[in-house]
Amino acid sequence: MKKLLIFSLAAMVLAIGLVGAVSAKNDNSNQYMPSNAPTNEISLLENAKEVAPGVFYLGKSMNKGKVVEGYAFVHYAKDSDRAKKAKPTQDDSNKYKLLGVKWADTIQYEVNTAGSNFVGAGDVTGILEDSLETWDTAITSDFELFNDVLVPTTETFVGGTEPDYINRIVWQNFGGPGTIAYNSYWFYTATREMIESDVVFNSYYDWADCIDGGVDCSNKMDLQSIATHEFGHNGLADLYNRPARPLTMYGYSGFGETKKQDLATGDMLGIQALYGN
Ligand SMILES: [Zn+2]
Repeated sequence: MKKLLIFSLAAMVLAIGLVGAVSAKNDNSNQYMPSNAPTNEISLLENAKEVAPGVFYLGKSMNKGKVVEGYAFVHYAKDSDRAKKAKPTQDDSNKYKLLGVKWADTIQYEVNTAGSNFVGAGDVTGILEDSLETWDTAITSDFELFNDVLVPTTETFVGGTEPDYINRIVWQNFGGPGTIAYNSYWFYTATREMIESDVVFNSYYDWADCIDGGVDCSNKMDLQSIATHEFGHNGLADLYNRPARPLTMYGYSGFGETKKQDLATGDMLGIQALYGN
C-alpha cells in the first residue's frame, strides 16, 4: 500500500493533465490510482483520463440535478503491446473485484448490429442475449439484472462527456487491432447507483460464434465470450493477474477464445455479492 501511494504521488508529479484522475481520487471513487500511462490510445475516449491500466475516467458533472461520473474499461487483445505488460501477482479464479457501483433495478439494452462483421452461422442479437442470461442465471436471488430481450436500434452514439441514460451496444471501427471492446458506465456519485452502461465492440475484427458458427476462428473474436465479459462490468472490474486467467472477468482475450462464455467461481461469487440477495 505504501509502495502504491509513493508511485501515485510520483505519477501525479510527472504527469500533466491529470485533473480528472486527481478529482476521482479526492472523492469516494478512489479505488483507481492515477498513473502516467498514455491517455488517448482510443480516439473514442479522447476526453478520458487513464487512471489505471485499461481504466479511463470519463469525468464528473451535474446532470439532471445530480452529480454523476463515469468510467470506461478497455478490453485488450492478448497479442497487443499492452497485454504483454501484464504483471502476475497473487490471485486465482475464486477471486473477484467489485467496481463499487451497482444497478438498483433491471436494465434494458438497445443494440445496433450494423458493422458487426459477424461471419458464419449465428444470430448476433441472440448471442448477446445468451451472454446477458449467463449472468442472470448466476444470480441466486429473484433479482433480474438484465431484461432478456434486446431492443434493436439504428442509433450509433454511445460516447460523450455525460450520460444519456440509454444502455446501448454498438460496433465501431477503432482503426486497428489491440483493443477488442470497451465498456463505459455512469453512476450517481452520491449513491453509487449505476445509471448507464454502454458496450462498444471493435469492428476492425471479424466476429463469430467460435463453437457452432462453422468458421475458422484463428483470426476472429468469439462474440459470446467477449460480450459476457463486457456485461460483467455492470458491477465487476477486470482482473489482470495471471492466475485469474480462467475468469470471465480476466482483462485480456484473444482470437477464438471461448472460455469467457462460462463463468468461473469468482465471477459467480462477484455477481452474487452484488445482486444475489
Ligand atoms: Zn473488461
